[in-house]
Amino acid sequence: MNTITVSLDQLLKYNVPGPRYTSYPPATHFTEEPTSLKSQNLTPSPLSLYFHLPFCNRQCLYCGCTNIVTGDQRKSAEYLDYLEREMKLRAEHISEGSETVQIQLGGGTPTFLLPEELERLGKMIRTNFPMAKTIEAGVEIDPRGLTLEKVQALRSAGFNRASLGVQDTDPAVQKIIARIQPLEQVALANTMLRDSGMESINFDLIYGLPGQTFESFSQTIDDVLSLSPDRFAVYSYAHIPWIKSFQKSFEDLLPDVETKLQLLQLAIEKLTSAGYIYIGMDHFAKPDDAMSKALADGTLQRNFQGYSTLKGVELHGMGMSSISHVGGSYFQNQKELPAYYAGLDAGKLPLLRGYTMTAEDQIRYDAIMHIMCNLYIDYAQVSGQLGFDFAEHFKADLASLDDLEIDGLVRREPGGLHVTPLGRLFVRIIAMRFDPAIQSGQPKGRYSQTV
Ligand code: SF4
Repeated sequence: MNTITVSLDQLLKYNVPGPRYTSYPPATHFTEEPTSLKSQNLTPSPLSLYFHLPFCNRQCLYCGCTNIVTGDQRKSAEYLDYLEREMKLRAEHISEGSETVQIQLGGGTPTFLLPEELERLGKMIRTNFPMAKTIEAGVEIDPRGLTLEKVQALRSAGFNRASLGVQDTDPAVQKIIARIQPLEQVALANTMLRDSGMESINFDLIYGLPGQTFESFSQTIDDVLSLSPDRFAVYSYAHIPWIKSFQKSFEDLLPDVETKLQLLQLAIEKLTSAGYIYIGMDHFAKPDDAMSKALADGTLQRNFQGYSTLKGVELHGMGMSSISHVGGSYFQNQKELPAYYAGLDAGKLPLLRGYTMTAEDQIRYDAIMHIMCNLYIDYAQVSGQLGFDFAEHFKADLASLDDLEIDGLVRREPGGLHVTPLGRLFVRIIAMRFDPAIQSGQPKGRYSQTV
């Protein structure tokens, strides 16, 4: 196998806690000072709308999501009533001339909703927000419990992209993580979604799960490749037992750091050999997919849902715990359901905390997103966009890369900074060198390990 060699010393050096940079600054820097969307002076923008649907039938033991496990189906109808109220309040803050270009349902389990509730949600979104002619409308799907009626409801609600939570196909791993999902169930969901006319199907996998071995994960990848999805997201398992105490149940079954990196390298090798393009930290796509094209033309973006093909959008997150990124500020909704409902009962947006970016934050955001998405910074091009000399502004940060260059993670040239194939495996480490909170040894909050 043609893998990149990493020494154990390098692995141990670079396997440290670090942000995933779905935002900059990371959400751990948000403060609970009063925040208001009204303070934003908005100009018409393309809109990306995210809706968090928190309910799940069962708890998967590896999960780090903000979710609510319940057997009470009635909860989703009540939740939609509140979500509708939030949409009406949020719509007041949308500038005239803005249009929705992207919709995403995440969770929890969006397909916890009944078919008629999925249709109702689609109508609510289209009633409350202006729509562009062409919209990417995606939904996260749990293959367990997906029915033809739900697929048809999603299609009639306008959804054209699906992301299936697969994670691992080995029954032994599935048992440990309490997510029993035979491959046949994934195949059936895949067929129903394809037959319904979904334009793009993504599979989520996770490496570093308890019980995974090189052989078992190799079989998982062979299994999922046989179903030929358009994209893969291959996420690193994030062990955060201080937030999710149930993760402690399998701590002694987790693969060690060397095995974990080998699992990622295995995924890269097998998926790229099968013709998929390695997009960024954890995404792969077929060559004709929009994400591969965005990587090629330098327009790839990163947001709370991972990598995205849409540049310059305002992200409005709705539902409990959702994060918005609007006009240079971040806003997060209440993370607990009672507080989320109470805010809406009081007739206001249920905001918990936020962060207003400084001019320097915005510059660092751009630098970090260049590293995470494009794996290259062209100093002249970025200097032209920013209106000042990038290399001069980031002189100290670039100088701090000496050891990363010696270890082969980056290559500094007079005109730009390159992330090498080895550096791609540790791209969070490279981005962290441009994050002053990390460099000053004063990160806020705790993060998962970078490997
Ligand atoms: S992984 Fe998905 S289905 Fe499982 S508990 Fe988490 S949010 Fe729910």
